[in-house]
Amino acid sequence: MKIRELFKSGKTVFSFEIFPPKKDGSIETVYKTLDELTDLHPDFISVTYGAGGSVPGCSTREIVSVIKEKYHTESIAHLTCVNSAKEDIDRVIEEFEQYGVENVLALRGDVNPDIPPKEDFKHASDLITYMKSRSSLSFSGACYPEGHPESPSFDKDIENLKRKVDAGAEHLMSQLFFDNAQFYRFLEKARAAGITVPIEAGIMPCVNAKSIQRMVGLCGASLPPKFTKLIARFGDNPDAMRDAGIAYANEQIIDLVSSGVDGIHLYTMNNPYVARKISEGVSSVIRI
Ligand code: FAD
Repeated sequence: MKIRELFKSGKTVFSFEIFPPKKDGSIETVYKTLDELTDLHPDFISVTYGAGGSVPGCSTREIVSVIKEKYHTESIAHLTCVNSAKEDIDRVIEEFEQYGVENVLALRGDVNPDIPPKEDFKHASDLITYMKSRSSLSFSGACYPEGHPESPSFDKDIENLKRKVDAGAEHLMSQLFFDNAQFYRFLEKARAAGITVPIEAGIMPCVNAKSIQRMVGLCGASLPPKFTKLIARFGDNPDAMRDAGIAYANEQIIDLVSSGVDGIHLYTMNNPYVARKISEGVSSVIRI
């Protein structure tokens, strides 16, 4: 099923993100994570591309295929293009067809200062245009409630997002954020710019103060005082941080759903315990 179809019922779509196992993982670790995550009945699961993915049988496309075939859950493959030439993407299309992948989160990817980017695809929108002309795949794109870090301005980023949607992104998944006000401001601007596709809000539960600080450093998400107080108070106590982080994410989700958000995309970090706690905390809210 194409991801866009999931939004037609008008219910809040609830999706999970996982990443392929790192070097010491195996297909068994993937199955274990998926056994637990699919038990929570997400509408779909997305699988990241790039980090990890080197374990045999555990590439992004293989996992996406397993989610669909073994777990009967819809799935979407992330794909970056910054280091790919057209021939590489042609091979990916072939593999997607072979593995029955239907949905792709088309991304540019981050530019590695040590690896000069290839010339064929400068932006995610170029990847969508190219793949759309050669396949019947369905495309989603990434969006940034506080603007992409490289963008000269917020308005310019919205303009570029519109280009991505015009190229064929049928659904957008947002970068993580901790301040819902930022997301609402973004949503208003995006709708005013004529972006009408469903936009899912990206929620990352803060269960580990150090890793969240690293992530925030990379993506530039702003931290409301309520959130920084929570890290200051509980950051050194893993159990308290986990419980407080889950409660904070639940509060964010409830506020977003009551404001009529199209969907919630939960960055699970392959942690079924946290995904379960959150799903249970919002189960009656999310299904309305
Ligand atoms: P683009 O949409 O190409 O945007 C990049 C920059 O170029 C922006 O500043 C934008 O304003 C500008 N721009 C865009 N289009 C145009 C245009 N047509 N003309 C001029 N300027 C333009 N990274 C991974 O490596 N693997 C993953 O699995 C992964 N998953 C992600 C999932 C989500 C939900 C998100 C939000 C990000 C993810 N990323 C992932 C990170 C992503 O690759 C980086 O944020 C990257 O820097 C930008 O990718 P993009 O597809 O948003 O780029």
